[in-house]
Parts: sequence; C-alpha cells; structure tokens
Amino acid sequence: MKFTFLGTGTSQGIPVIGCSCPVCRSSDPRDKRFRTAGLLEAENTNIVFDAGPDFRMQMLQWGPSRLDGIFITHEHNDHIAGLDDIRPYNFMQKQPLKVFAMSRVAEALKRKFDYVFESNPYPGCPSIELIEITPGNAVTVGNLVVEPLEVLHGKTPILGYKIAGFVYLTDVKHIPDETVSAITGVEALVISALRHKPHHSHLTLREALKWIINLTPKKAWLTHLSHEMGKYKDIASTLPQNVMLAYDGLSIGS
Ligand SMILES: [Zn+2]
Ligand SMILES: [Zn+2]
Ligand SMILES: [Zn+2]
Repeated sequence: MKFTFLGTGTSQGIPVIGCSCPVCRSSDPRDKRFRTAGLLEAENTNIVFDAGPDFRMQMLQWGPSRLDGIFITHEHNDHIAGLDDIRPYNFMQKQPLKVFAMSRVAEALKRKFDYVFESNPYPGCPSIELIEITPGNAVTVGNLVVEPLEVLHGKTPILGYKIAGFVYLTDVKHIPDETVSAITGVEALVISALRHKPHHSHLTLREALKWIINLTPKKAWLTHLSHEMGKYKDIASTLPQNVMLAYDGLSIGS
C-alpha cells in the first residue's frame, strides 16, 4: 500500500495569488502546495481523498490510470471543486465513478454539481455513483476496507478515513472520543496543522503536535498548511523525530 500526498496546502494553495512573503516566493519545490488531497494505491485498488480545485494537475502528475473511488472529507470548495475533472476516468473506465460522502456532504454535492445529477445529464458530463457513508461503518472498495471516522472542523462534523494501520484526517479542530479510540497507536497518521496562530476550525501546529502525542502513532505527517506556517526547511527541522512535514508528491509506505 502506497500513499501519496497530492496536495498539502490550505484553501488558497501556496503560493497565494499576489503574496510576496518568503514562503510564497520560496524556490524550494516543497514550499509549493496544491490544495489538500491524497492518493492511496493498493494492489488492484486506487482511491483518492478529496477532489479539490487542483485535482486535474494532481492526477496528471501523480495519478493512476485507473481510479476506484473518491472519499470526500467535507463539502468545502478546496476539497470538492475539481470533481468535474473525473471525466477522463469515466471515459476510460466506461462507468460511473464511486464518490463516498456523509449525507450532508452528499446533499451539498447534489446542489453544487446539479447538472451531474439531472435525470437527463448533458452527454459527456461527469458520471458519479454517490454513496452515503457514516462514521464507524466500513465500506469495501476493490480490496480495500475503508472506515469513515468523525472529526470536528470547527463545530462541523466531517469525515476522516482509516485503512488498516493508515489514518487520513484533514481540516481537524477536534477529535471525538470514538475516533480517538479507533486511531490510537496506528502505524501512520496524517493530520492537518494550519499555522501557528489559533484558528476557529483548524488545529495549529502546537495543537496538532499535542494530538500526536496523545494518539501515539508510530509516525505522523502534517498537511493542509497555510503560507503562514513558514518554509518547509525551517519548520521540518523543529519537529519531533516521528513527525514529518508533508509536501506535494511525497509518497509513504511501499
Ligand atoms: Zn480545507
Ligand atoms: Zn505568502
Ligand atoms: Zn474545510
């Protein structure tokens, strides 16, 4: 099983349009961040977490030629705006693409992509099989068993995902007890950390590190970073030994 960070930036991406801060002007490729998303490739099954505005560029750089499902964490634009670009997979695979989301998010997708869900959709428009999922009820896609987990994004419940010893959480502000018990002591934890200054719906770096200490994963990676976090090389060197700052294109596992 191999996981690739397709994007590790917050909603504006890095560089931010018009920004001349040192991070946005950095020439280090690890300081260029697409909107947050991930790809999990297992034997015969490939899934992605979220399809934000950079989905097309992410798939062109790191995407597989076959995709079995998209697991949506929540309905914010930086996590869904690229859904229209699944069309090449529809054309190649000649079938609807499975998109998994919690019920509130599924309704939001139906509103934002109303033309996809019409009874007589325009020929060539994306074809989606929308599947509603709930925390704690695992679903099987190909040979992957994916367990949805509830996390809180501000006060809004959203989904994270667990596949064997791998856990993917983004846009986290709080982790409810049931999720804490489900993910304590895993091999690999991906968790979001926005910046240093507090934010109403995202963990700061310090808060994310505290969760990592409590959750005791073997290794953890931080994602969904703002340009206010600082440059990769400055922040990565300050982290505990089992915590890594993620960057676009980084692959973990084998
Ligand atoms: Zn986000
Ligand atoms: Zn900047
Ligand atoms: Zn969000």
